[in-house]
Amino acid sequence: MKIKEIVDALERFAPLPLQDGFDNAGLQVGLTDAEATGALLCLDVTEAVIDEAIELGFNVIVSHHPLLFYGMKTLTGKNYVERCVIKAVQHGIVLYAAHTNLDNAPNGVNFKIAEKLGLRQIRILEPKRDFLLKLVTFVPRNQADQVRKALFEAGCGCIGNYDSCSFNLNGTGTFKAGKETHPYCGEIGEMHKEDEVRIETILPKYLTGRVIHSLIESHPYEEPAYDLYPLSNEWSQVGSGIIGEYDEPLTKDEFLSQVKRIFEVECVRYNNWQGKIQKVALCGGAGAFLIEKAVAENADAFLTGEIKYHEFFGHEKEILLTEIGHFESEQYTVELLESIIKKMCGGLPLKQTTIHTNPINYM
Ligand SMILES: [Zn+2]
Repeated sequence: MKIKEIVDALERFAPLPLQDGFDNAGLQVGLTDAEATGALLCLDVTEAVIDEAIELGFNVIVSHHPLLFYGMKTLTGKNYVERCVIKAVQHGIVLYAAHTNLDNAPNGVNFKIAEKLGLRQIRILEPKRDFLLKLVTFVPRNQADQVRKALFEAGCGCIGNYDSCSFNLNGTGTFKAGKETHPYCGEIGEMHKEDEVRIETILPKYLTGRVIHSLIESHPYEEPAYDLYPLSNEWSQVGSGIIGEYDEPLTKDEFLSQVKRIFEVECVRYNNWQGKIQKVALCGGAGAFLIEKAVAENADAFLTGEIKYHEFFGHEKEILLTEIGHFESEQYTVELLESIIKKMCGGLPLKQTTIHTNPINYM
């Protein structure tokens, strides 16, 4: 299997256009035409992690956090990032990061955290907006099925857990073919009326190129007519954070103890909220930007990796704020990476790193 097949598998699950604007997810270092010898999975790329891949004879490292975030003007080994890049290149190791695209993807990082906590009725806490388009096209009645099928195969028509969604209306199209045309029906220079179906469906904006290509390929007309409309709808399957519920409410102490155990946290930081916990909002990593959203959704607790001192203030009557550490909150992302690659690239040697990359200690 070529390395690019692993990249394709990861990007089918977590398409790069789902990443946040500040991010630099995707292929970081290396050429993907080579045969993959194995993939080492980690949260962070460090020199020790690259050494582990070298020892294993693996030429792919898939991390959650990108090693490279900023442009480089020189590459001299003056910091660990540059030393990692140099070592990876010297040993023919490809570095790939699935970061906020994996956070925002359906069944991504935060779903994994919710699964570990045992939450049910899970949904995205802050769905993305301005990611969806409506496509309307007009197809001769006898070809409507083939065009609709091609559009669905290109990624149109997914709403929640439904696929193949469209609306279809019968009508009449008109056209008059000009010089040097090759009309599918009608005669050049004569007004033609054709029974057509108006097909409406939905698509993620980032699939536009692929969808329009499929439309043109499958449509019998020389000049298919189509409209793309921007939608301001939320995309309920994609976005930041998760909210879900326990079957039975927990006391605050039960909740905090459970969190400590599941995430192997030595020190949980929390505020002075009092009450029982049933509805929990969460976000792996630095998720404090979602506190207000969690309050607005009436969550009893909000769990994340990092909350600043001042962000703890003023919420003690609203919500239990729970901070467990960035690494701790996202550690199970490595399991998620493993399951994605295993499912789509069966047979490829895979290993979760044995290097503990959390740079923070507690005493
Ligand atoms: Zn993170």
